[in-house]
Amino acid sequence: MQLSEEEIKEVEKVLRSQQLSLLTGEVVREFEKQFARYCGVKHAIGVNSGTAALHVAIASLDIGPGDEIIIPPFTFIATASTIIHNNAIPVFADIDEKTYTLDPNSVEKQITEKTRAIIPVHLAGISADMDPIMDLAEQHDLHVIEDACQAHGAEYRGKKVGSIGDLGTFSFYPSKNMTTGEGGMIITNDDELAEQCRLIRHHGESAWYVYERLGWNYRMTEVQGAIGVVQLKKLDKFIEKRNQNAFYLSKNVENIKGISPPHVPDYCKPAFNYWIGKLHPEIIKMNKTQFLEKFPQSKTLYPEPLYKTKLFKHKLGYPKGCPWSCPFYGKKMKYDVIQLPIVERIAKEIFALDISPEISPQALNEYIEIMKKLTEN
Ligand SMILES: *Cc1c(COP(=O)(O)O)cnc(C)c1O
Repeated sequence: MQLSEEEIKEVEKVLRSQQLSLLTGEVVREFEKQFARYCGVKHAIGVNSGTAALHVAIASLDIGPGDEIIIPPFTFIATASTIIHNNAIPVFADIDEKTYTLDPNSVEKQITEKTRAIIPVHLAGISADMDPIMDLAEQHDLHVIEDACQAHGAEYRGKKVGSIGDLGTFSFYPSKNMTTGEGGMIITNDDELAEQCRLIRHHGESAWYVYERLGWNYRMTEVQGAIGVVQLKKLDKFIEKRNQNAFYLSKNVENIKGISPPHVPDYCKPAFNYWIGKLHPEIIKMNKTQFLEKFPQSKTLYPEPLYKTKLFKHKLGYPKGCPWSCPFYGKKMKYDVIQLPIVERIAKEIFALDISPEISPQALNEYIEIMKKLTEN
């Protein structure tokens, strides 16, 4: 089970203390300290969701009207929507054929004089290829925010994901590698960025009624902090179990013609958040929709690239067309003509399976049996 007596006890302590906000309590501060230590960074800033973490991280870099940020289109909506929340422009680059994470070659083609940052997403607990992304950022003077919301504890060349770019963001939604119900975290080694993130999550307020900058109320609660402290202690055990489940599936799927297991690159120590299978429709003579219908335990994963969704096709940002109509931008962004060949094919071939620590061996074997049956034609 994801939660046990230990979390209940720590939450009870917070409730009995009568201090429910980080402004008066000390539990979130403790969680931040421990999370920073776990990731090997100087600072962690607790917020109330992964979406808030991204919103704050982007704002802390003073990115706004007229600025572009390059992201993959094969990700959760918040990677993109938080750029729009900051009045900046999401620009999509293609993904890698094998890892389904941002392809550095495609990123390079999308860099313009307006580009300010890159947000690689560590998908399903497998890290993006950070070295070439950091090289591009250095060459073009860009910031890097790692969206590590699906990859707590994963490593890239021996470093925890989220600790490599200027900032890293995490979500503690129940489906993630660890949970606080709702919640999020920003990590960084940069003292000034950490200070800005702390301001932004709390109205930009540095002292009573002193507003240093525009902010929001994105504070993590003490109850969330209490759950987080306990969950963090269990994180490595959770990851071990998730990886065991994932590798068990992968080993058994290797012999199944028509379905490929996820690829784990040499540079990555994974922390599987879910298991990704790739269909070969020409072999199994079925498309993804037909396959998913016959396999009710499976889930589609990002059924189309984000730029093909209504929000982007019709540029449904702020009223009056911002951020795209902003005079600081001065360019015409057309999402409806974008064609990124890898993501468009991959989106039709990828599906996800739950491999959370609670799942039973029977359920895993059932997945395998169904996949075997569906691919024998
Ligand atoms: C879950 C997730 C988020 C958002 O986190 P919330 O806590 O749900 O707001 C952002 N990016 C990615 C890649 C995610 O998987």
